[in-house]
Amino acid sequence: MMEKIVLKNIIKSFGTGEKKVHALQGINLSIEDGEMVAVMGKSGSGKSTLLNVLGGLIQADKGTYLFENKQINNLNQKQLSTFRSGNIGFILQYYALLDDRTVFKNIALPLKYGKNKKRDITAKTEKLLKKMEIYDKRNNYPCELSGGQCQRTAIARALANDPEVILADEPTGSLDSGTETMIMELFKQMNRDGKTIIIVTHDESVAKYCDRIITIKDGIVQ
Ligand code: ADP
Ligand code: MG
Repeated sequence: MMEKIVLKNIIKSFGTGEKKVHALQGINLSIEDGEMVAVMGKSGSGKSTLLNVLGGLIQADKGTYLFENKQINNLNQKQLSTFRSGNIGFILQYYALLDDRTVFKNIALPLKYGKNKKRDITAKTEKLLKKMEIYDKRNNYPCELSGGQCQRTAIARALANDPEVILADEPTGSLDSGTETMIMELFKQMNRDGKTIIIVTHDESVAKYCDRIITIKDGIVQ
């Protein structure tokens, strides 16, 4: 098995002086290609910060981040954004959909930043709408959707650039248990399709879908 992601002694703090928060205090972990992993830990333990470092949304202060053996920790902002759009699908807490755009436009958004032709954007977006079973909602706005439909829109958007790695922060946090099962089955399917998946969750029933649980406490892997 190939190591997809390796973190060595990753440190990240926020703020300065008395207000300084040590969010990640030396994270070491490796994730293999094709794994589906849950990250668990109490609120404030550093889970979202870890996910943001993995996704290249923020840079660590210190330490080494290897993605497919390439160093990410030395990339500048522009290189980081290229890394993100080429490799990472992000599913943020509370969906983070754009309220003033239709489901179709939300999903098509990441494709517009690439070099895709309009015709290809339409074709790819329609395929994702069908895959996530929200084709009939394509012209609706997020406020007109159920929680499960919002999450399927967010997942479709994360899949738009066909990333190798999917990162999800509490993806079932605001869903009822029936919808949670449906969303977790979708993650499992994406994992069978070859995606490496990392899910931050509080929920034991979500963690059960994963191959492995990484527990973090006070910014350290237990
Ligand atoms: P979790 O997702 O496990 O609840 P976080 O990674 O969000 O934890 O936060 C870890 C710690 O870092 C918390 O004490 C939090 O308040 C702090 N933190 C996170 N992001 C920021 C930020 N942008 N600015 C200041 N403090 C932050
Ligand atoms: Mg969090």
